[in-house]
Amino acid sequence: MIKKFVAQVTDLFTRRKPRLRKEPKRIGAAEHAIDRGLVPRNAQRVCETLQKQGFAAYIVGGAVRDLLLGIAPKDFDVATDATPEQVKAQFRRAIIIGRRFRLVHVMFGQETIEVSTFRALDNPDRQTDEHGRVLADNLFGSQPEDAARRDFTVNALYYDPVTETVLDYHDGVKDVRRRRLRMIGEPETRYREDPVRMLRAVRFAAKLGFEIDEATRKPIAALAHLIENVPAARLFDEMLKLLTSGHAVACITRLRVEGLHHGVLPLLDVILEQPEGERFVMLALSRTDERVRAGKHIAVGFLFATLLWHEVLKQWKLREGRGEHRIPALDAAIDDVLERQTEKLAIQRRYTADMREIWMLQPRFERRTGRNPFKLLEHLRVRAGYDFLVLRCAAEEAPADLGDWWTRFMHAGEEERELLVQSSPALRAPGTAPRRRRRRGRRGSGEGDAAAIEAQGNGDN
Ligand code: ATP
Ligand code: MG
Repeated sequence: MIKKFVAQVTDLFTRRKPRLRKEPKRIGAAEHAIDRGLVPRNAQRVCETLQKQGFAAYIVGGAVRDLLLGIAPKDFDVATDATPEQVKAQFRRAIIIGRRFRLVHVMFGQETIEVSTFRALDNPDRQTDEHGRVLADNLFGSQPEDAARRDFTVNALYYDPVTETVLDYHDGVKDVRRRRLRMIGEPETRYREDPVRMLRAVRFAAKLGFEIDEATRKPIAALAHLIENVPAARLFDEMLKLLTSGHAVACITRLRVEGLHHGVLPLLDVILEQPEGERFVMLALSRTDERVRAGKHIAVGFLFATLLWHEVLKQWKLREGRGEHRIPALDAAIDDVLERQTEKLAIQRRYTADMREIWMLQPRFERRTGRNPFKLLEHLRVRAGYDFLVLRCAAEEAPADLGDWWTRFMHAGEEERELLVQSSPALRAPGTAPRRRRRRGRRGSGEGDAAAIEAQGNGDN
């Protein structure tokens, strides 16, 4: 109680408001050189429609930053002075979402444009926790206020696709040109308000190849522990953005440089500190980066299965060392790891189900005799399991010949498959439990149509 009071008083004295610049710089097309052709028709249409009703409406945030860099943005957000109800009334297919921040999703077929109302900077009733983290905050405000409450200068730009003008309140265009990430306002206060901004700084720096401005970078190491107070679901979303940014390796490297990796993925700390664990995770992440950059799909369950595999391995070996049978030991090891991770990370059930299946399939790849490999081919997730095995081989955690054998088996015709099985090592793989007689008529979970194989898994290699 006293601690909280002292923190609030200290906060009152130390908190400096971001500088409110009422008049933005107006930058014309000749100077900013944004190619309007990179802005989808629907995003332009949303701005036009609102403007025709007399509202202000701009493309905002990351999309403008990316447009300035000549990168095609992955999504478009619009900011306006119209209220969510006023926005909704203008479009045939629009819904108001969110409780803490109410936004409108305007839908055009598969495409959704997110429209948010300018938000106020300082709400006198704004609730914060004892570290200064903002808990509830939903007042509408002016455009200068909306700009000042955004995180980095390069994320606080507004682009009007009708007049092709960029409004710049915080010298964001200059920072884009200099490739510099600079926090709006006083960095320490802004990190305390929302510690996720530290992770965002790292992600943008890694993804855009920007330098983090010294004043923006400096407080991070000392405030890194505040990440612990971030709700698990939010942390998971942010980690997912980071890991699927196409620059995961750079992000993780940078997180470590900034002292931010501890506590972000609790078990990742341990893994990155063991050489084999680190090799495997980094290899998995660089493969993920390649896939993202090639525009391929990323299976989230697969990704997290790679991140936590070495922890599963460790628990598995421990249990086997205590005399537990191989498969039940793996099953129990998975329970241990998922329980600990989901508490902090809120990995959703649909992902943990995938992770478990991929892991449980691994010992089955060792059984290359009789009908075993054919049975395994029928498993719905065999493709993901196989991709995972190949990764383990590449990281030298599983024997290379096992991966090679499966690669041949997966691609072979029926006859060749029979030959491969006949020539496969008759001996069980080291550490495999003696074979028990299979009970007739019992099928493992998730087994299904072999034709579905190619549609599953993470890869298409
Ligand atoms: P990305 O390319 O990852 O989508 P982005 O900058 O668009 O990058 P979003 O998370 O989509 O990031 O957020 C959109 C905009 O909302 C940001 O550009 C920024 O202006 C603002 N914003 C998002 N998160 C925060 C935050 N935690 N604090 C302040 N402003 C934020
Ligand atoms: Mg965005």
